[in-house]
Amino acid sequence: MAAIIRISRFPGIWEDVLECEHCEGQGECEVEVAVPDYMNGGYLTTGIGECPVCYGRGWVDIEEEDAEE
Ligand SMILES: [Zn+2]
Repeated sequence: MAAIIRISRFPGIWEDVLECEHCEGQGECEVEVAVPDYMNGGYLTTGIGECPVCYGRGWVDIEEEDAEE
């Protein structure tokens, strides 16, 4: 269960969001990185990069699928 955290996207406006479970709120994690290699066609390796789930923010919007309005 992801933790709810409170962030301020704009000064004075606070929003509840979910901590990203994919990177545990760090904003970066181990990802596949494409290494261009023009002699051999390039290859994939792993390295620390921007979290693809939260785009490096460390949090994701709460999905309001259960909203009744
Ligand atoms: Zn993330």
